[in-house]
Amino acid sequence: MKDDPQDRGDERKIHPTPLLDELEDGPWPSFVTGLKRLRDEGSESNRKIMNDLLGQLNHSYENRMGYWKGGTVSVFGYGGGIIPRFSEVADKFPESKEFHTLRVMPPAGYHYTTEILRKMCDIWERHGSGLIAFHGQSGDIMFQGCTTENTQKAFDELNEIGFDLGGAGPALRTAMSCVGHARCEQSCYDEVRAHRTIINKLLDEMHRPALPYKFKFKFSGCANDCVNAIHRADFAVIGTWRDDIKINQEKVKEHIAAKGRKYTIDTVVSMCPTRAISLNDDDTIEIDNKSCVRCMHCINVMTKALSPGDDRGVSIMIGGKRALKIGDLMGIMVVPFMKLETDEDFEKLEDFAERVVEFFADNALEHERVGETIDRIGLPAFLEALDIEPDPNMVNHPRTSCYVRTDDFDEEAEKWFERKAREAGLQISAE
Ligand code: SF4
Repeated sequence: MKDDPQDRGDERKIHPTPLLDELEDGPWPSFVTGLKRLRDEGSESNRKIMNDLLGQLNHSYENRMGYWKGGTVSVFGYGGGIIPRFSEVADKFPESKEFHTLRVMPPAGYHYTTEILRKMCDIWERHGSGLIAFHGQSGDIMFQGCTTENTQKAFDELNEIGFDLGGAGPALRTAMSCVGHARCEQSCYDEVRAHRTIINKLLDEMHRPALPYKFKFKFSGCANDCVNAIHRADFAVIGTWRDDIKINQEKVKEHIAAKGRKYTIDTVVSMCPTRAISLNDDDTIEIDNKSCVRCMHCINVMTKALSPGDDRGVSIMIGGKRALKIGDLMGIMVVPFMKLETDEDFEKLEDFAERVVEFFADNALEHERVGETIDRIGLPAFLEALDIEPDPNMVNHPRTSCYVRTDDFDEEAEKWFERKAREAGLQISAE
């Protein structure tokens, strides 16, 4: 039988939570169960805090009112990273009257050791409520439920084990990168390095909020985009390749032998958005690589038979975000392809990121995301400001709407091919 705090002779009164109890019904895990576990089995101080937190939450549900208000809480040397929460019903629920959240930056790629996780739990048991969320929507580790007095103590100890606060408010926000090439065979670049390079370079913008509004970087190793970069990041770096998809015909045959031709046609050939795949009579496949838009679908289905090409790099999209002034935006293609292998490549990425953030700081209105700035001033002005040449590969949607104007397109295309040929010639002579 579950340990009942009242049976333990615990003197505190357990707040009844009839409305929250409803949320434990059904097949899915419930956050209420987690909170109750801390209330019933946590350390003494964690139990008290959670009891009052649950009481306040149930009270909120009864009255359909939120009782948290903001304020200002920070740690020495930082202007952001703490989300202050003060209770308006502290007289009824005193133990959770201050319930601030520390946003802490996770390691790039979310790689932890169990030792570090245990240390984090110990710190939060000492100074906070015991409640930690891996990871919040912002990408941060959310250490939830701390008093103003303990905020600095918790931060100092987290800092000692190598962690730093993330972003909040009008600032560079905590970045996210997928697990990437450490674990995933589809990865097209070193996401972790790109993530660390850019965030280390721009860290001041995170700790001392001075931007017009939030600015987010996200790094996905391939077009599967496991960290939702294209629609959540102001600056999305997504891995891709520009040569041919690699095909292992033996594995293709094995796949077809195991699953059947019909299955392969239904799930791979006819699902290719550009009809670039054909299945031969001898159970091999062909891909028209000029038509392929690198969507990853066929590779996801036939993971052993197909894989990204060898000439890998990244595309950069700017301006993705959720609803705000002009509704949801997908990032717009600004750098169709760049290599990201050598130190020099990473320096170029770092420099470009810095220039985009500077542009944002100088030109965005208050409370405006960079996608909205581009919408307001027009894409040509943005490209000009960043000294980016228009390129036919800059598209809104693959193969449907190139945003380079198509009147006089032949002449423009001619110039583009000439420029590419010149660049190729320069590269060859430089080599
Ligand atoms: Fe078609 Fe996408 Fe495969 Fe390219 S990656 S061949 S577009 S399914």
